[in-house]
Amino acid sequence: MGKSRGELKAKLMAEAERAIDDLLDWHLSTAKPNLAQVEEKVLALRQRLSEQMSQTVIEAQAAVRPVPGPRCEQCGAEMRYKGLKELQVSSWVGDLQLDRGYYYCEQCRIGLFPPGSTT
Ligand SMILES: [Zn+2]
Repeated sequence: MGKSRGELKAKLMAEAERAIDDLLDWHLSTAKPNLAQVEEKVLALRQRLSEQMSQTVIEAQAAVRPVPGPRCEQCGAEMRYKGLKELQVSSWVGDLQLDRGYYYCEQCRIGLFPPGSTT
């Protein structure tokens, strides 16, 4: 079962808070940073937060396991659920490591991470 709104919010708030703490630690320990250094720090934190935000909502959606399983695009048979598997995804916000439900067709030897990516 997927996480509730409250659980997701708590997770995202904790990640945002960690980014803000990171920034303030850096701010307090860096004497007179120039604009480029500030930009570099903020962009790095933004990058990390973007990845965490994406990961959190994508994983929350994937946690809803479709029943019946998806159809194999080759033979049309129902694909079997094989549990969660780690999937590396390059996205606009960065490289994401996601735990996604994985489905497999024994006959065609095709794997699928619904809704989209085949392996
Ligand atoms: Zn098949």
